[in-house]
Amino acid sequence: MIVNYRSSSSDEEPDNSSENDSSPPRKRGKATETSTSEPLDYGSAKRTEDKSTNKTPRLPLPESMKEMFREPEEQWTDNTEEHGGRLGSFQHERGNWVTYVFFPYKPEESFVELLIAFMVVTAAYGSPLIPSEEFHVSLSKTVVLRHHWIQPFIQSIWTSLTQFQKSVISNQTSLFFCMADKLRVYFNAEKTRTFLGMEISTGTIQLLELIKLVDQTMKEFNLSTFYKDPSFHVSLAWCVGDHTERLKSACLSELQGLVDSHEDGPFYIRLNCKELRCKSGNKVFLFPQQ
Ligand code: AMP
Repeated sequence: MIVNYRSSSSDEEPDNSSENDSSPPRKRGKATETSTSEPLDYGSAKRTEDKSTNKTPRLPLPESMKEMFREPEEQWTDNTEEHGGRLGSFQHERGNWVTYVFFPYKPEESFVELLIAFMVVTAAYGSPLIPSEEFHVSLSKTVVLRHHWIQPFIQSIWTSLTQFQKSVISNQTSLFFCMADKLRVYFNAEKTRTFLGMEISTGTIQLLELIKLVDQTMKEFNLSTFYKDPSFHVSLAWCVGDHTERLKSACLSELQGLVDSHEDGPFYIRLNCKELRCKSGNKVFLFPQQ
């Protein structure tokens, strides 16, 4: 069956033929070359050098994580509402797992209060925006994976993350703080969804480092890499259709006024490298701590 690896809500480059290939990506490491939905054998848990390729060896996934992949394909479910409308433009097909990498964001009370205040203002302007049910900072575009690609995909991200934790945060804390103080309107590639987001303006260095690593995996799997001009943000609300201009001209400055006059100052979004996640279909993978 030919799978259409179309991009999702993201601003994707046009499809290319490699993304329509149902065979696994060729450039993957040894362990990921198997194209069956059987659990893959990751061999010994000991980390060994792959001298023949000089590439960083893959770390084996723990048994507990492998178990997560053993669910039969038929049990795949997807619910557009669950994703805050992000995935509305995907063709939902059995065996295709809508996937993205992200940091969860647990909002403070004042953030929720501000969001409620935003909704009052936007409703007064007749905007159909509805608040997001969960908050996150995306570190990838939303892509589609075949079921048998999920395990090697997660494996690849995990290997990169291990490198990141060792090299970038080494002895320091795994926490970093980003300041979010600017509202911005986003839309998906097809302009069928509009999002009101709070853009992260400082503390993006580590996020950019992480993007490089996630992008490596994306390239390995012939999937779209992140935006050339990344704008890290937390989406606060969304609606169907292209309401970008309407929001900008009608109420964005009023909403920004609410942020600027927020008595506790800008929001600091606390991100923990150890909490990086990948959502694939109806499963969320939490990367194990090193
Ligand atoms: P998210 O809440 O992370 O799913 O993002 C909401 C929307 O923002 C997605 O549909 C993205 O396509 C869109 N978006 C548009 N431009 C950008 C950009 N430069 N950086 C990040 N997200 C973007």
